[in-house]
Amino acid sequence: MRITQLFVLMSVIGSAWSLSTAAAQTPRITILYDAFGKDAAMGKDWGYAALVEINGKRFLFDTGGDPVIFARNVKARAVDLTQLDFVVLSHRHGDHIGGVSYLLGVNPKVKIYAPKDGLGGTFGSDVTHQFYRKDEALPPEMRYYGGKPPEIVKLGTVFPGANLQLIDNTTEVVPGITLLALVSDVTGTKEMKELSLAVNTADGVVLIVGCSHPGIERIVAEAAKINPHIHFIAGGFHLVAAQDPAIEHIVTTLHDTYKVDYIAPGHCTGEPAFAALKKAFGARYLYAGLGTTLNLGAKEAHPNVKSNTATPGSRNSTSTWRSAMGDGWRSN
Ligand SMILES: [Zn+2]
Ligand SMILES: [Zn+2]
Repeated sequence: MRITQLFVLMSVIGSAWSLSTAAAQTPRITILYDAFGKDAAMGKDWGYAALVEINGKRFLFDTGGDPVIFARNVKARAVDLTQLDFVVLSHRHGDHIGGVSYLLGVNPKVKIYAPKDGLGGTFGSDVTHQFYRKDEALPPEMRYYGGKPPEIVKLGTVFPGANLQLIDNTTEVVPGITLLALVSDVTGTKEMKELSLAVNTADGVVLIVGCSHPGIERIVAEAAKINPHIHFIAGGFHLVAAQDPAIEHIVTTLHDTYKVDYIAPGHCTGEPAFAALKKAFGARYLYAGLGTTLNLGAKEAHPNVKSNTATPGSRNSTSTWRSAMGDGWRSN
């Protein structure tokens, strides 16, 4: 029943439609970086970035892997990076933070939420000087800081001067917008912290994940603590090399256990997982290739889709909605 009361519409976006304005009233997500898509004006590359406009906020989730390609894609969608409430960096991998140098060139003081990794993490860390053992018998020139360390030792960041706000534990950064902080336990990324974004809306949780290194199941379970109704998930599920039984398990969990309304996988979800999710979710699988804008929210918000000049409730508008639901997706 709830499905009929909600809808997610993927819209056709003309290049003339600027995304440079303040947060749109219609919640929407625009994919700015990925390795698949249809828009020849944008550069396909491994990584993930999305512009998110929701709950009156307008922010960037990740920045892709290459600053030149990120810049090209941002310009192709006319996104004004000087008009951001904040930026979220999901985790330290280069395919998510590579575009930060371009971002900082445009908006040097933008607030950037990043995971607080352990000692010496990519985003920097502050520790008390007690992190190292002392030997007071040594001459001062052999002792760290001449034997007089500062109370707090700041360890370097790869983004010196940036307005980084490190997130250690799951935190509601603005009302209704929560950064879920989970730590990977998987070989290769063990102990790496990753932030996922959960927005509590009237329709349920809108969840955006970067690479899901801690596991998409664990992330969804964390999001479900905020609101058990998961409305929408976009991003990378990290099933890129997973075998079919593991993929099936995740698909079943998302579809049957959590009863996720809409799924818009991208990035490291993987080609076989795209296929399995499409099969399970049917029309509720939303194509989310590079350049796609996904509108989420109440049907009444439809007029905000600038590329569709139809008035709400008109035949054209209804057919667009039906088409989006029936075909699963439409895009440019
Ligand atoms: Zn990663
Ligand atoms: Zn990644």
